Amino acid sequence: MKVIKKILQMQKVADEARCAGRKVGFVPTMGYLHKGHLSLIRQARQLSELVVVSIFVNPTQFGPHEDYQNYPRDLSRDAKLLRQVGCDILFLPSVEEMYPQGYCSYVDVENLTQLLCGASRPSHFRGVATVVTKLFNIVKPHLAVFGQKDAQQAFVIRRMVTDLNQDLEIVVAPTIREPDGLAMSSRNEYLTPQERADALVLYQALKWAHEQIVEGQRNIEYLVQGMTKMIQNKKTAQIDYISFVDTEKLHSLKRLEGEVLIALAVKFGRARLIDNLLIKV
Ligand code: AMP
Repeated sequence: MKVIKKILQMQKVADEARCAGRKVGFVPTMGYLHKGHLSLIRQARQLSELVVVSIFVNPTQFGPHEDYQNYPRDLSRDAKLLRQVGCDILFLPSVEEMYPQGYCSYVDVENLTQLLCGASRPSHFRGVATVVTKLFNIVKPHLAVFGQKDAQQAFVIRRMVTDLNQDLEIVVAPTIREPDGLAMSSRNEYLTPQERADALVLYQALKWAHEQIVEGQRNIEYLVQGMTKMIQNKKTAQIDYISFVDTEKLHSLKRLEGEVLIALAVKFGRARLIDNLLIKV
């Protein structure tokens, strides 16, 4: 596996691969890799001939009081995992390389980014859209793989790629969970044993709602109340949102029909965790 730290070198390698007719697959990450990340990389491996993974903890997607400084990092472990899973190139730029002095250009995807996580993290998706656009311009991939775990992020990226005519395919891969159901996340690292046990309720609440719907329940208020009760029962949980939204505009649904995203964000101590289920009613 080759490690590239400079933008110009990454662009040159990408150009050479494209000229040679090799399909370039890309997985952007913030590192501290787990099996969720690795599943995206395996998917990229299956769909392309040159697999590029980036590790960049992107400062512009963190709010002023969020965990940018303390975000978990372990580069040597990450590099080992990447080699095992068949990554060809690790793109590892510094913050100065990505945002040099005088930097002042941003990508703003409207509407979709103000809802759900965007309501409590107002500049988050602007940072995500900006860094992902920059990474697409640097890695020049034919396809990029994102996780369903960050459902809103995947929607925002798809919208941005369509709106700005970015010339690549977006693949969304399923959420990978711990054996007990907790969605894998680098931020699970922050959880104390009590919080880790309590956090199980997220998937349980999503599954409960899904089961209710399968049994014929169509009252969204009833479902949100049931999920809220389950989660509030856990002492360390603080709910940010529980929403039933459509998969076009991410608007709150009045009626359960068609494709429905059940999404939630809940804080457990320092960790703000998100999870979701995409269902057909
Ligand atoms: P991050 O390093 O958190 O920025 O995540 C990088 C990519 O991995 C994003 O596309 C995430 O959606 C994806 N990802 C994170 N956790 C999971 C998971 N548990 N299952 C599948 N994909 C994931």
